Amino acid sequence: MQNNDPHHDRAPGAVSQPSVSPEKLPGIRHVIAVASGKGGVGKSTVSVNLALALQQLGGRVGLLDADILGPSIPVMLGLPTGQRPETTADQKIVPAERRGLKAISMGMLTGDDNPAILRGPMVGKYLKMFIGSVHWGQLDYLIIDFPPGTGDTQLTLAQSVPLSGAVIVTTPQDVSLKIARRGLRAFETLNVAILGLVENMSSFTCPHCGEDTDIFRRGGGERMSLELGIRFLGAIPLDADIVTGGDEGRPIVAEKPNSVAAQAYVAIATVLADRLEALPTTALGAFAWNWETNEEEPAWVESAVQPMGSPTTPVGFRRRDARTMSVLWEDGRRDDFDVRDLRLACPCALCVEEMSGRPLLDPKSVLPDVAPQTISSAGNYAIVFRWNDGHSTGIYTVKHLRALAERFAAKVVDDV
Ligand code: ADP
Repeated sequence: MQNNDPHHDRAPGAVSQPSVSPEKLPGIRHVIAVASGKGGVGKSTVSVNLALALQQLGGRVGLLDADILGPSIPVMLGLPTGQRPETTADQKIVPAERRGLKAISMGMLTGDDNPAILRGPMVGKYLKMFIGSVHWGQLDYLIIDFPPGTGDTQLTLAQSVPLSGAVIVTTPQDVSLKIARRGLRAFETLNVAILGLVENMSSFTCPHCGEDTDIFRRGGGERMSLELGIRFLGAIPLDADIVTGGDEGRPIVAEKPNSVAAQAYVAIATVLADRLEALPTTALGAFAWNWETNEEEPAWVESAVQPMGSPTTPVGFRRRDARTMSVLWEDGRRDDFDVRDLRLACPCALCVEEMSGRPLLDPKSVLPDVAPQTISSAGNYAIVFRWNDGHSTGIYTVKHLRALAERFAAKVVDDV
């Protein structure tokens, strides 16, 4: 028997159900996580300067400081702190605007010398608010400065937003690279594309003679990228101006655009923007699909099908009729799912006993006319159904969906 447990392939320590429901972010083209395996590698500095560099390339950019417990974006951008942000008539938070960037951070609410002392559930609550309730308007890029590490908060966050991909920041020391690798694996487990690796504080450029000195072993990030088959986006030198600029709300990309570091950021932003444009937009792009009206139906992209395509990457979803959802996979396979069969195959802890895999849902209790109300994407790795019987806790990973398709197909063959 196949293991259809959606938690089977999750990262160690991952929470089984996102406590923040997956939100669609309308009007935002690309959502980028900037993450690191540990704190202090310059992740927030990279987030701010990368945001400004993407803006210099003509993008409309927002910056979400998801480091609820240690927000540093307000200081780095020189944002007002300790003030309640304004809200719109429909109760959305208006982000601060600074140097053309839209930004929101917990530090804006609490003041930077008043660190937020919050328990886990509160962190989740604030993240949910920041993701779902900020009036971003139209953006080309939303950069999310992730909390450092790879614990539950990070994984829940990665599952809660439709990420285009993640940029991993590391410093060149071996230990930091090892930790970055762990962070990277966590994202991969959630089917979040790794957009590339940034090596920060890689070499020291002497402000007097302009000579480069490698403080740490050279090329660690590049070697690791090669080894793991991910893109090396570039290296940022160690630069004292980055520190003072960060402390005084004067990010180097805006203040010293001709410096080596600022130009390194712009070069990284250029590669990143190209990568994002080249991403298959069909690989389960974000959607919140109303099944009854077929409003916001996701894409169905036959041209994405390739003989060597991935068997677990859907490139199309379609409502064939009121009772049938069709899925097109990148390897060319098409599957028609009866929606009641999908309801019966709900993998959530209410329907399947978590430890033993024993079914808890009595098929007789599922009405013949059960149907989805909405189907929405959860990150890049799953879809979530809200059913007309009130059930909405099932997260169907794409792997689970493909396994179901194969099981149903095998059953049809057996029955013939
Ligand atoms: P993180 O978000 O990973 O905790 P920060 O962005 O807060 O790290 O950076 C930590 C410290 O390192 C800050 O003082 C910052 O100014 C400094 N820093 C970041 N990048 C560089 C760099 N390339 N050169 C010199 N200092 C840097």
